[in-house]
Amino acid sequence: MLLRTLSNLDDLAYYGKTVLMRVDFNVTIGKDNEIGEDYRIRMTIPSIEYLTKRGAKLILMSHLGRPKKTAEMEYKQTNKIQQYATSGIDINAIKQFSLLPVAKRLSELIQMYNVSFIDDCIGPKVQKEIDKMDRGDILLLENLRFHSGEELNDYNFSKELASLADIYVNDAFSVSHRKHASIYGGARLFDKKLAGLNLKKELEYLSMVKDDPVKPFILVVGGSKIKDKIGALENLLPKIDKLLVGGAMAYTFLNANGVRTGDSPIDYDHFQWIKNALSKYPDKIVLPIDHIVTSQSFLKLKQEESNEKKDEGKKGNENSTFDSLPSSVSSPSLVSSPSSSVSLKKGAIEEGLLGVDIGIETVQQYSSMISQNSNGLVVWIGPMGVFEIGLFRNGTNNIAKSMALAFWRGSKTIIGGGDTLDALKKAQVSELEVTHVSTGGGATLKFLAGDEMPGIEVLNKNH
Ligand code: AMP
Repeated sequence: MLLRTLSNLDDLAYYGKTVLMRVDFNVTIGKDNEIGEDYRIRMTIPSIEYLTKRGAKLILMSHLGRPKKTAEMEYKQTNKIQQYATSGIDINAIKQFSLLPVAKRLSELIQMYNVSFIDDCIGPKVQKEIDKMDRGDILLLENLRFHSGEELNDYNFSKELASLADIYVNDAFSVSHRKHASIYGGARLFDKKLAGLNLKKELEYLSMVKDDPVKPFILVVGGSKIKDKIGALENLLPKIDKLLVGGAMAYTFLNANGVRTGDSPIDYDHFQWIKNALSKYPDKIVLPIDHIVTSQSFLKLKQEESNEKKDEGKKGNENSTFDSLPSSVSSPSLVSSPSSSVSLKKGAIEEGLLGVDIGIETVQQYSSMISQNSNGLVVWIGPMGVFEIGLFRNGTNNIAKSMALAFWRGSKTIIGGGDTLDALKKAQVSELEVTHVSTGGGATLKFLAGDEMPGIEVLNKNH
């Protein structure tokens, strides 16, 4: 698809014009209003600078979290569901989803610009604020999802958004699979609608992976939800040289291959698809040969501890000696030391135990395949184990480090967003040691599956 991007308009076309840019500032905000990982904010800086330097008045819009769902829950809990149905979303009840802290972070990141914030995203108050803007100014609107019209792709809400500006830009790849007002309905109403620089970059890398991957091509896939990844796997398997499987998914693959997997969760909905894939591509699909195992109760205990730490808003010492395996474990005997409830199992897993991370031999095998794939392509989506818990993070940490090594040796390395970026950070691998970190989780998988991307298709439509 031929994509119209920022450079498709003359520089002068932006001068003095209002530009409405959809960004994805859906970042984690702690109880103290501290912003967590701000990669998504930083990735929009090139487009922001491109437009402001050309004299545009730049209006940024984004969603943050799921205020509607939270509000619905709160109303349900207080038996005020009737009130909810008639009143829409009560902004005061959902202050925790305000984008105000993001405006503050953005102005810290680009101190030379005048960044302001307005506590709504449509209406006369917003228009008044826009009228006050000078060329080069930036205005961040309040969370789009405070209006239910956003997710409903409501025509009137779309019209209100579109009335704010002369030019529309989408720089939010990670939401481009959604048919929401700020991505689709509103965008349709503009004559001038363009892809931002971050969206362009995402599409360049991900189109290469989908349509014409550099060879040899290794895909590393983990995490737990097979449902989300099956479309991408289906589409990519014919082009892949090796598929390295880890995470909870691996146990469904192993089970389908006739290996006993104990109490590990099995996804029977996709069991037959996996069986077929294993028989069609027996030489491509590589499965773990050993596992870090524990009991359901110990896993639960550790998960509760980890959630408590999060709730307290503490970062905690996630790499404390008790809680983590040595990052490059080389001998099985080392594994039993942190806790007797955790052990290393080769081959079958007995009843009462479940796999929570790839084992040491698997780590070695996967790491050497990844890091030796110089001049090839490695794409990594999803953690190798329950990486939120230090004890079960060894596999994920080592994959992150091998990705960095492959990059330094000349391989193209691409990381699917969400958990995988978090995993990279936990392994202390910089995003600069990877060719490309995608800002999208769900959008990346949908794009790789060849699914429709309304937010991208709308940019090339004339309505
Ligand atoms: P996904 O959203 O499908 O990429 O899954 C990410 C989640 O998978 C993370 O929260 C991990 O804790 C979880 N996960 C990875 N490996 C395992 C495993 N072996 N058992 C249970 N959960 C896992």
